[in-house]
Amino acid sequence: MLPDAIFAKAPVKGTDWSVPAADIDDAPRFPYRGMHLDCCLHFFDIPFLKRYIDLMALHKVNRFHWHLTEDQGWRLEIKKYPLLTEKGQWRKETVVGSLKSGIYDGKPYGGFYSQDEVRDLIEYAAERHVTIIPEIEIPGHSLAAISCYPELSCGLEDHYETATRWGIFRQVYCPKEETFKFLEDVFDEVIDLFPSELIHIGGDECPKASWKKCPHCQALIKKLGLKDEYELQSWFIQRMEKYINSKGRQIIGWDEILEGGLAPNAKVMSWLGEEGGIKAAQQHHEVVMAPYPKYYLDYWQGDPDSEPLAMGGPTMLRTMYEYNPVPEVLTAEESRYIIGVEGCVWTEYMPTPARVEYMAWPRMCAIAESGWSPAAKDWEGFTRRLETHLARLDRLEVGYCRNFWDPFIEMHPDTEYSKVVTMSVDAPGAEIHYTLDGSTPTAASPVYEGPFAVNRQQKVTAVSIRDGKQIGNVKYKEFR
Ligand SMILES: [Zn+2]
Repeated sequence: MLPDAIFAKAPVKGTDWSVPAADIDDAPRFPYRGMHLDCCLHFFDIPFLKRYIDLMALHKVNRFHWHLTEDQGWRLEIKKYPLLTEKGQWRKETVVGSLKSGIYDGKPYGGFYSQDEVRDLIEYAAERHVTIIPEIEIPGHSLAAISCYPELSCGLEDHYETATRWGIFRQVYCPKEETFKFLEDVFDEVIDLFPSELIHIGGDECPKASWKKCPHCQALIKKLGLKDEYELQSWFIQRMEKYINSKGRQIIGWDEILEGGLAPNAKVMSWLGEEGGIKAAQQHHEVVMAPYPKYYLDYWQGDPDSEPLAMGGPTMLRTMYEYNPVPEVLTAEESRYIIGVEGCVWTEYMPTPARVEYMAWPRMCAIAESGWSPAAKDWEGFTRRLETHLARLDRLEVGYCRNFWDPFIEMHPDTEYSKVVTMSVDAPGAEIHYTLDGSTPTAASPVYEGPFAVNRQQKVTAVSIRDGKQIGNVKYKEFR
């Protein structure tokens, strides 16, 4: 209702602002509107997290899912186990490029949050109506903790060390009494710190290789009459759920907590497509939809040839906007168990705050809208409102991806000698003009009207034109 200048850093001269008299009839579609940040693969300091929360609040996103423990680093101070941050915050180096490169930077990397910093951030978030949900990963993604306290593992390796590359690791917590004692102590401190009703216990990507070889794990499976290691994982999670429930809190975990049977009161955060979310809702467990790749903000948001390294994709703004978080196979009754949405920000390829902002915005605007607004989608309307909104993000100096105004060119495989070209642009009212000879297109160049074939000699160069003027950047794509 006010111009974007309301967000200016300094007073704006010569303004006469007024707000039209209006009735506001507005309420959120879902109670849970979340945004995640992985602070383990890369570490982000408290001032940046405050800015992150400010932006969430601006978009009516009310849950900050804080990923605090990983194979590659433990980030939360635990008073009873000081080694977790003294040692576990560090990895000796980090892989460069994708995990396939095999090349490392040779630089120690670390960072952690003290309990005082955490309390301060929780208060800051609460003032903005944002609840912080901490995530402490069990039973997998626990190598940083195990490197500090090897007795928590199955003990099959000579040496445990915080991971230096991305991926999944076989070294996981061994379900023995000393592990449960450790985890109960850790969750005691987590529960004391965080007032959130929901506590995220991870639960994803837990390889079973160590449990298969471990005499203790095998004896435990027999003793408890379990079928296999999947049921052992379910027993592990259910035991921790009982403990966390006894403190008056609820657990939420990734899809894999469905393996071997879901803990009785658990909520599911569905990331492996929609299947887990559907299954959980059908079993009348509450679900937050955070499916990969549709809500994964670490995926490319443009042409991988001209974007920085990302996890996969691309997952374009429009795909994110049009995703319906309530799968159609659910009955009306089951649909009620979908309590919300979340955008995931995994930071393998986001080493800096600037990169996080670039990847998260403006796609998070689309997820935020799906969390708040009625189910009906209106892409044209969204792009018009988003363009107005981007002016606000400019005032706030958010380093968002500016692909919105650029042509997005895709070349699809055809024959050895031909590829099929499709192009699109998000900005409303824009047309794409292009050339095939390498020259820069103008408003006089041909207008893109639909898919066409190109040969090996041709290079597609395109611009977006609106009202006779170029908006955005010149984009090109070569036959490869
Ligand atoms: Zn074991």
